[in-house]
Amino acid sequence: MADVHTPKQRSYNMSRIHNKDTKPEELVRKYLFAHGFRYRKNDSKLPGKPDIVLPKYKTVIFVNGCFWHKHEGCKYFVWPKNNADFWKNKIESNVARDIKNYQLLQNLGWNILTVWECELKKESFSKTMSCLEQQLIKNGVTK
Ligand SMILES: [Zn+2]
Repeated sequence: MADVHTPKQRSYNMSRIHNKDTKPEELVRKYLFAHGFRYRKNDSKLPGKPDIVLPKYKTVIFVNGCFWHKHEGCKYFVWPKNNADFWKNKIESNVARDIKNYQLLQNLGWNILTVWECELKKESFSKTMSCLEQQLIKNGVTK
C-alpha cells in the first residue's frame, strides 16, 4: 500500500487508531452527554448520516477527519505525492458529497455544525467544545 502520509501525520493517525475510545466523534459525544445534551448517533435517515443529531437543538454535528474531508489550511491536510490523481479524485468527491449533504440538511431545516479532528487535540479541545456548546444553545433558542 502506498504511503500517503507524512511521518507527522502518520503518528497522529496511529495515535487515533490505537485508542478506540478516543475516536474523535466519541470525544465529542462524551463531552455533550456529560453536559446534559442528548443525541442520536449516525442517523441513517438523514443525508450524510451525521455523527451526532440533536433534534431539540435542530442541529446535526459532523466530526470530520482533516485528511478525508480536506481541511484546507490545516497541517494535517496534505495532498499525497503518490497516486496523486487517485487521491485528488477521492478527496474531491468526498468534499462534493459533503457540500451536497449539507445543502440537503439545510433544506430540511437543520443547522449544521462541523468539528474538525485537529480541533479536538488536547490543547484546543476545551475551547472547541465550549464554542460548540454555545452554538448549540443558540440554535436551540432561535429555532
Ligand atoms: Zn484540521
